[in-house]
Amino acid sequence: MIPDALRTPPGGKPWLLYGLLGASALFNLALFVAWGSGPTETVVAPTVQAIGEDTTVSNPAVPPDQVPPLPRAQGVGQTPGTEVFSGVVTRSLSATFQEAVVESPAALSAVYTRLFAWDVDMRRDLHKGDVVDVLYEQPDNAEPLVIAARLHLNPGSGKETTFAAYRFQAPGDAYPSYWDKTGQEVPRRLIDGPVVDYEQITSLLKDRPTHKGMDFKTNIGTPILTPRAGVVTRTNWNHAANGNCVEVRFTDGVLAKFLHLNENTVKEGQRLTAGAEVGKSGNTGHSTGPHLHYQIERGSTVLDPIAYHGTLRRQLQPEAMESFVARVAEFEAQLEGRVATR
Ligand SMILES: [Zn+2]
Repeated sequence: MIPDALRTPPGGKPWLLYGLLGASALFNLALFVAWGSGPTETVVAPTVQAIGEDTTVSNPAVPPDQVPPLPRAQGVGQTPGTEVFSGVVTRSLSATFQEAVVESPAALSAVYTRLFAWDVDMRRDLHKGDVVDVLYEQPDNAEPLVIAARLHLNPGSGKETTFAAYRFQAPGDAYPSYWDKTGQEVPRRLIDGPVVDYEQITSLLKDRPTHKGMDFKTNIGTPILTPRAGVVTRTNWNHAANGNCVEVRFTDGVLAKFLHLNENTVKEGQRLTAGAEVGKSGNTGHSTGPHLHYQIERGSTVLDPIAYHGTLRRQLQPEAMESFVARVAEFEAQLEGRVATR
């Protein structure tokens, strides 16, 4: 995405563009060199209040097992092409975006809702007068990419609560994630989940009654692991829908399904230790974007991976905080409109 101001005029020389690309490459190199010390993990109790029984997250933009293409990562100071929205909630979140004539109000609402779903139930917790701020990009043919977002609940009431999320790639991480101002990760992670490197959990069990698993958006070829020791009971059943798939019965009797794999790396009857690879993630079967569908059952009951595994929130390493704080300052300036974004 090259802003108009940087496009090379006919016959001209794109020095400015080369300079920017060079700076970007240097930044990436610096990131690469800084790799090796990942974020620390703050383990919390396995029972999670964030996504409780009464929590439903509407996600109309992403139908079952249809994950949009991975959005492009953002470079430092890459402000052109971003949009800022700041609004006061009227009837609902999507109505708030709609009234502002945002390009894809339902999609932006869904992405924003998913980002804060770990702390806020937009249907229950959002009220008239609450304030929504979001800095985002709207790529063609893909869902909006949120770069920074804030949510002010009950502003001016004396019991105001503010949530914030800033996109940032932690040293050692395969993908950018979202972090609050203190450097704590906003989306929770499963403790010993089936995939380490993923961009986002795009679907929770509670999102839709017809969807029985959790979706992890991740590039094709990412190692998929069995979270518990067990034995492979089936592979590639219902292949048209599931694509390449593996089923593992954990030693506690729970049955785990890993769907839409690019390849299976285990055979039926094989015994696995906890953390052993079962395959590589893919986009096979009824799936329109690379992701893992992870589903667990005990008997005829579908289990919520969040309750079964428990979750944790990671904390950025102290070494990463300086660059993170600088990014937050940039994003805040854009959110406040102190920087032209178009
Ligand atoms: Zn799924």
